[in-house]
Amino acid sequence: MIAPPAEILDDVVRWRRMIHRRPEFGFEERETSALVERELRAAGIDVKRVAGTGIVATLTGGAPGKTLALRADMDGLPIQERPGLDFASEFPGAMHACGHDGHTAMLLGAAVSLARERSSLRGTVRFLFQPAEEGPGGAQPMIEAGALASPDVDAVAMLHVWPTLPVGSIGLRSGAMTASCDDFDIRIDGRGGHAGYPHNAVDTIPVAAQVVGALQTIASREIDPLKAVVIAIGRIDGGYRRNVVADRTTLQGTIRCLDENVRRSVPERIERIVAGICAAHRASHEVELVHGYPSVHNDAGLTAKVMGIARGVPQIASVVELEVPTMGAEDFAYFAQAVPGCMIRLGCASPDDPQPASLHSPEFNLDERALATGVALLRALAFQLT
Ligand SMILES: [Zn+2]
Ligand SMILES: [Zn+2]
Repeated sequence: MIAPPAEILDDVVRWRRMIHRRPEFGFEERETSALVERELRAAGIDVKRVAGTGIVATLTGGAPGKTLALRADMDGLPIQERPGLDFASEFPGAMHACGHDGHTAMLLGAAVSLARERSSLRGTVRFLFQPAEEGPGGAQPMIEAGALASPDVDAVAMLHVWPTLPVGSIGLRSGAMTASCDDFDIRIDGRGGHAGYPHNAVDTIPVAAQVVGALQTIASREIDPLKAVVIAIGRIDGGYRRNVVADRTTLQGTIRCLDENVRRSVPERIERIVAGICAAHRASHEVELVHGYPSVHNDAGLTAKVMGIARGVPQIASVVELEVPTMGAEDFAYFAQAVPGCMIRLGCASPDDPQPASLHSPEFNLDERALATGVALLRALAFQLT
């Protein structure tokens, strides 16, 4: 019952390659969601469009039971793929570099194959094909559109391909899996002038330099070292030329946290440090914070069940209990805040590749044998968590 039928695995590989060829950005996944919708309808699965390109599909089993949601994201990234694959991206500057092509194909394969075995399924399986995981985020609009309702979803799970785990393995842990991700912009205003007469100006460049250094003391001096936080400045803009005082400098940064209390405390710390440094140097300032995705927290009970189920799936060679989360972010967090959730890493590193490229790299590729492992696990979850 658990083994995916061979013909569906051929379809999954074919779908994955079709989607890989035509990567689409967030909320523009028109071809991808059209493919998903067509195949789901052909399999007799109830389909509803939400949040533009999002798809909520519902498969009701032959006996009463719980409702499990399984989620895949569909969007690609603005990365130029390195040549190599014969099914490489046909769109310049766009690539499935995060494996969402594989996620979509696996979930579609699980849905279509389960539809053929509907009578032996309990409860309800809800398939969530989500737009815009890479930003600005499709999970929240899908929830607002009722993706977790009628019937109410009892639990939600997802797979993410993972290039540091070998194909055939999966990795998971209970508690934090990913970090929260918030962005901030700092604007420092001074007074322009001639570099030769600094006393007549307020130069924002040395102020910005002090701000960059001082912000690092939040992680090193203010937050409990056992609670991870990353505060990174990724971009600085300021100045005109070497002999002109920069009257304005802007900084753009990102904040990653695993703990919600730490996360809530960071904006005040940034504001205080920036305000203090700017005031000390006669500059004025503005800090703007943009809230991003929360941290994914895997539900302990659900994660234990998923581990048990995974250990019984013959296609899974090893179930790795992860010691630590990562400081990456995932908007699956919203689904997992609404109902008990479990994010599962699916090993996709080929044993022949000594240095598999990381996610978001122009060289990223997945070992397609991972697709069979993923479909088998999704099907097992559908049979055993409903
Ligand atoms: Zn990504
Ligand atoms: Zn991703």
